[in-house]
Amino acid sequence: MKPVLALVGRPNVGKSTLFNRLTKSRDAIVADFAGLTRDRHYGDGRLGSRHFIVVDTGGFEPDSTTGIVKEMARQTRQAVAEADVVIFVTDVRSGLSAQDADIARFLRQANKRVLLAVNKAEGMQESPLLAEFHELGLGEPHPVSAAHGQGIRSLLEAALEDLPEDEDADEDDADRPIRLAVAGRPNVGKSTLINTWLGEERLIAFDMPGTTRDAIRVPLERDGRRYELIDTAGLRRKGKVFEAIEKFSVVKTLQAIADASVVVLMVDATQGVSEQDAHIAGYVLESGRAVVIAINKWDAVDAYQRELLERSVEQRLAFLKFAPIVHISAIRRQGLGPLWKAIADAHASAHCKMPTPVLTRLLHEAVEHQAPKRAGSSRPKLRYAHQGGMNPPVIVVHGNSLEHVTEAYKRFLEARFRAHFKLVGTPLRIDMKHST
Ligand code: GDP
Ligand code: GDP
Repeated sequence: MKPVLALVGRPNVGKSTLFNRLTKSRDAIVADFAGLTRDRHYGDGRLGSRHFIVVDTGGFEPDSTTGIVKEMARQTRQAVAEADVVIFVTDVRSGLSAQDADIARFLRQANKRVLLAVNKAEGMQESPLLAEFHELGLGEPHPVSAAHGQGIRSLLEAALEDLPEDEDADEDDADRPIRLAVAGRPNVGKSTLINTWLGEERLIAFDMPGTTRDAIRVPLERDGRRYELIDTAGLRRKGKVFEAIEKFSVVKTLQAIADASVVVLMVDATQGVSEQDAHIAGYVLESGRAVVIAINKWDAVDAYQRELLERSVEQRLAFLKFAPIVHISAIRRQGLGPLWKAIADAHASAHCKMPTPVLTRLLHEAVEHQAPKRAGSSRPKLRYAHQGGMNPPVIVVHGNSLEHVTEAYKRFLEARFRAHFKLVGTPLRIDMKHST
């Protein structure tokens, strides 16, 4: 499971600036998709080969009891409960405040590993002003400048130091079980589907390992193929440790998506596609995982609602066009056969092997059918293609003047490759590489 770092601190110390610094955009795969909504409170970060999730909390006031501030405090508590490491952000320019001391007290009781970041310390690495932050009793202060990118690396190294290396979810092959996550907002029917799959009435009491880091994986077998169901919000945990955590947890959902080889994105037919659905779908897209959209509660909608629903899928999930849509009723056990088939097809597509000669032939046929547009005096020359990766598949096209290949032309190529290899439910990336 990806480790989780939570940023906590009073308003204006620079948490969002630090968040942006830690999560600064990675894979360009998502850049091309219109309508992709992002939630700025959760992001993926990377240090070398190590991936992690960063959670930005609102400004935190531990003892607030009213309104929006109370809600922020509640969210912060949940973020702290779910985090592996808390980064407590303070501000050297405004100095230590009473509020900082309150937060420090709360964090010491939370029993988490806490790193103390003293922000806005550009050019102040040796400043005597840093000394007073020792008073918080949270160990050595780490001077950083989120705005200028100073001290960030050593902060991250310290944060990830004692955490186990995340096993690479990309490295799954045909022999391993297909790791399956059912993602979706509360009440769409995730637990109902999972219970139906497991053939029991209820799935509540598991013997849980004792920490938030341990993932639950339930083995399943279907048509001679092995699956592992990854813990999502639908599986409930027992025991005190988890009481602070709500049934639906974005962090758990993100970890499950990262850990899965296929994600079933569940939508409630009676509600249509909400903004929250689109957020979760955005995470799935960013993860590069294979995905199947399951529209649940199909038993409970009339023709008019079905039409509204189709429209909301088209509008809000446009960026997941490659994902097959299966209509199901988890309660009535309808549509489950097609759902399994879509899952298996998506997994096969994500791991499709595409030989260089075939890709190159398809490329030449595509160019013959429709050559890329000339730009000024040069026309892009597409020479050959090879597979650059799997899960999601990447096709690397080699040639010259490739900077003139338009997005529209890339989509044209993508469609032809997809059709030939019958790719469903997986993103497909096309990279252009100059021949030398
Ligand atoms: P948040 O409320 O804790 O999320 O704080 P923000 O990230 O919104 O930052 C608050 C203010 O501090 C903004 O005006 C930022 O530009 C500024 N700020 C953030 N990081 C730094 C830094 O490293 N150095 C300086 N000088 N200013 C910073
Ligand atoms: P979760 O929060 O996503 O795990 O959702 P639950 O599985 O707890 O289901 C939420 C509610 O939707 C429950 O009242 C279920 O009985 C109901 N529900 C789940 N699946 C279906 C379905 O296929 N059809 C209908 N009509 N209701 C369903």
